Amino acid sequence: LGINRSTVLNAYRELKADALIDSHIGQGTVVLSPKPPEPFSFSSPAALPWHQLFSGYVASIKEPLLRDLMEIVGRENVISFAAGMAAPELFPLEIFQKIYRRVTQSYGPAAFLHTPTEGCYFFRESISTFMGARGVSLSPEEILILSGSQQGLDLLVRAFLDPGDAVIVEEPSFFSAIQAFQAAGARVREIPVDQNGMQVELLEPMLIKYKPKFIYTLPTFQNPSGAVMSLQRRGRLLELAYKYQVPVLEDDPYGELRYEDQGLPSLKALDTRGYVIYLSTFSKMLFPGLRVGWLAAPPPVVHKLALIKQMVDLHPNSLAQYLIDAFLKEGLLDRHLDQVRREYALRRNVMLEELTRWAPPETYWNEPKGGYYLWCRLPENTVLSKLLTKCADRGVAFVPGDVFFTGSPPGNYIRLNFTFSKPEKIRAGVKQFISALNETLQE
Ligand code: PMP
Repeated sequence: LGINRSTVLNAYRELKADALIDSHIGQGTVVLSPKPPEPFSFSSPAALPWHQLFSGYVASIKEPLLRDLMEIVGRENVISFAAGMAAPELFPLEIFQKIYRRVTQSYGPAAFLHTPTEGCYFFRESISTFMGARGVSLSPEEILILSGSQQGLDLLVRAFLDPGDAVIVEEPSFFSAIQAFQAAGARVREIPVDQNGMQVELLEPMLIKYKPKFIYTLPTFQNPSGAVMSLQRRGRLLELAYKYQVPVLEDDPYGELRYEDQGLPSLKALDTRGYVIYLSTFSKMLFPGLRVGWLAAPPPVVHKLALIKQMVDLHPNSLAQYLIDAFLKEGLLDRHLDQVRREYALRRNVMLEELTRWAPPETYWNEPKGGYYLWCRLPENTVLSKLLTKCADRGVAFVPGDVFFTGSPPGNYIRLNFTFSKPEKIRAGVKQFISALNETLQE
């Protein structure tokens, strides 16, 4: 075959050296079965000191509040006013069963293949139609589909923040956003919120003093305060953003969940110069488990964020995009929103009624026109940690207000969610909560 004889002899020599063959003159060559490997011997039994190996980034992450909340909500017999969860009884499961069948029949394996990092183009088109109906005219290229809007916060942090950079947030503000900014080493500076949203009158000196990388705001049904930023403040906020060339990050998961009037245009709808990066999600309107959210920003920003996203999860869940796209295209979201608005308004009213009936003096709360939360201020002498324990003993959960502040809160605040529990549970839960509060106050 043209193989040199010495090549063959060398190969035999190597096999023999590795104890894979044996040969004796007159007996030919036999193949040996490989010897089992020596068992490992460990000289040091010491456990690996994992905590010494984690990065500085991990060390800066504070209390795992969100994880704890999810765990509490998952427990049976707990009346949870804690996590911001949609009502499971309202999930349109049958519709999704049918959509699933249609999608898998029409698209077959495509619904289970990879999609582009930015999301399927047809789905980005659907989101741009959805935003168009809300006064925001965008091309699909300006939309990035996310695995939940929390992912958008993470991508934006990575894209814009270096340690020591300043960020302006509202006070109080969404705790997971504060946590993400702080974990990145940002200097988080706060502007108080009143019933008309962020006190934008205080913004200009802060922009001059801190030169923030961006302003993070929840202008519509703020989490946790329920406040809605007035139209006049929205305009002024944009004016200042333009003047000082600071991007505005608008987080808007609750905008569609309004229970009284038509609502105000989003900052993104008012923005004429592409300064607003807009975040939203299907978690609150529909359900959180498919993990689909989106971000709208100028194409260069979408491009950079997609580069980062590619390293995180390659792309959003393919099937989830096909399913929600069909739900949108068939006009089912608007119908669903009508239904949840009615039910959430009712649940809000029940919670307000019960608090009005039972709450002790010097307990105050807002009457939100939309969103998911009541923001309550409890009497000065309430010891929140005691109240939490007493409530847990009675099977009721809420979120203590301090997590929504970077420093100490100016009072005993708590956040109560009214969308997750059915009305009768809300009645029972508020009674238990008030009895725990009264007991705490008497101690
Ligand atoms: N932003 C705000 C203001 C929220 O309240 C939430 C959910 N609690 C999120 C973002 C994250 O939502 P998602 O489930 O889409 O990640």
